[in-house]
Amino acid sequence: MKSTANPYAYGALAAEKYIKDWGIAALPIDPFAIAAEFKITVAAKPASNAGVSGMLIRVGNEFAIAYAMHIDNEPFQRYSVGHELGHYFLPGHPEAVLDARGVHESRAQFTSKDRYEMEADGFAAGLLMPRHLFFPALERAGQGLAAVENLGTLCKTSLHATAIRYAQCTREPAAIIVSVGDKIDQCFMSEALKAVDGIDWLHKREAVPRNTPTFAFNQDAESVRRAVRIEAGSNLQDWFGGRRRIAIDEDVIGLGSYGKTLTVLYNIAVPEPEEEEDEAALIESWTPRFKR
Ligand SMILES: [Zn+2]
Repeated sequence: MKSTANPYAYGALAAEKYIKDWGIAALPIDPFAIAAEFKITVAAKPASNAGVSGMLIRVGNEFAIAYAMHIDNEPFQRYSVGHELGHYFLPGHPEAVLDARGVHESRAQFTSKDRYEMEADGFAAGLLMPRHLFFPALERAGQGLAAVENLGTLCKTSLHATAIRYAQCTREPAAIIVSVGDKIDQCFMSEALKAVDGIDWLHKREAVPRNTPTFAFNQDAESVRRAVRIEAGSNLQDWFGGRRRIAIDEDVIGLGSYGKTLTVLYNIAVPEPEEEEDEAALIESWTPRFKR
């Protein structure tokens, strides 16, 4: 497969091809069963430090996957195994990532800048949420955070990983934002939102806009830790600028002990160009003209 500019996309596309080739046709995908199929032993293991999510280990021609024992949550374990399967299946990965002892320690979950880690993260997302199975599920999932939660339950994936896939796959204008305190960590916009004229991109490390429900929510670290969930009204202009005030829905949830907050922006009624013209004509028709 030809490499694409985006390492996440490259990994995800490769995984989707495997899922199709293996004839797996239903969610949830079981990465433990895939590993077993390829005679890869999977076990929980204490990690050398808390940043390590999993390991790929080669002894001779045998491979094993270890996921970090401190990860006590099924979606994260499944994602971690999916990531290590990425290192096993992606061309060039075993050679590049295994050290002299035949061990690779992963820092998964979209936090690494390393190309191989990013490709393996993409592989895990594509493996657990392949688009050809995810699209039909998305149609039935509802909207906003509720849709992300429904899809996460179906795919057995974390809210964070599912939200990113939701933003990539939904046909609606929507965005997901991961924030820490008053800083934006990540923003993923759907294609339909990117196509809206006049809005700005949110970049990593920019501040959470002050007048948004997310900003207010993040003032209380306890809400983040206890995974409190709110549904609020918001405005597209507050997040992305642009000329117009457009009312939107903003769902917010604390991601627990990670100290991060997930925001889903949706129900965005983007004005059609004709509507704007009609509105201009209406305003024009109400403008008095005086004859002398
Ligand atoms: Zn890795």
